[in-house]
Amino acid sequence: MPTPLIAGNWKMNGSLSLVETFGRALSDADLPPQLDVALMVPFPYLEAAARSLAGSRAAVGAQTLSDQASGAYTGEVSGEMLRELGASLVLVGHSERRTLFGEDDTAVLARVRRALEAGLRPLLCLGETLEERDAERSEGVVLGQLDAVLAGLDPVQRQQLVVAYEPVWAIGTGRTATPEQAQAMHAAIRRRLASHDEALAEAMPLLYGGSMKADNAADLLAQPDIDGGLIGGASLKIDDFLAICQSAG
Ligand code: PEP
Repeated sequence: MPTPLIAGNWKMNGSLSLVETFGRALSDADLPPQLDVALMVPFPYLEAAARSLAGSRAAVGAQTLSDQASGAYTGEVSGEMLRELGASLVLVGHSERRTLFGEDDTAVLARVRRALEAGLRPLLCLGETLEERDAERSEGVVLGQLDAVLAGLDPVQRQQLVVAYEPVWAIGTGRTATPEQAQAMHAAIRRRLASHDEALAEAMPLLYGGSMKADNAADLLAQPDIDGGLIGGASLKIDDFLAICQSAG
């Protein structure tokens, strides 16, 4: 069984003082023994987050990376740079990157490969829009996004992936997928992984994301194929984030 993982995605929020608050609280927290924790912070906070979280069990992650290793790409940030600043994970294919920044499956695969080359664990986000769900296309869309990445990786690279199912209609909307809806998609993802490699399917953490909060986390995390959460809004409040971590124990 995968070790549960609770990962916070701060998006373009937070401050250096919030980094310090989280560093102190996570270092002092009595977290469940079988739990991995990560905070995905904006680029400028990576180094401070790595320093403040060094005494805690939380890993530091970034929210995207360039699809190039280096060169004339003004404004871009490479996986190597993230690694140098203390990141060990990176989000790839978050729905905000897919919709607002035009990252399609090809761009997502290129970033997953760059992350792996740099020694970062890619946290691959998958999810359908409300229109796709209403048209009963959710499973096809999500498994298509997954297949596009699996097809471009070898078996060893696939073992490094963490997958987050994040229905787009549940992100930042306060409208959470029901535990049954989330479980059904997680089971479909697990079955698709097993069709490639049984051991991979058993070992890969599958996170749910989309308005997960302190008061709904326990029901979602109790589902057999939900191994953790990717938390947006609620990861900016330390008490809420710690309460979600406790629910995953
Ligand atoms: C996210 O951005 O990955 C997310 C799940 O956001 P929220 O929890 O705010 O819906």
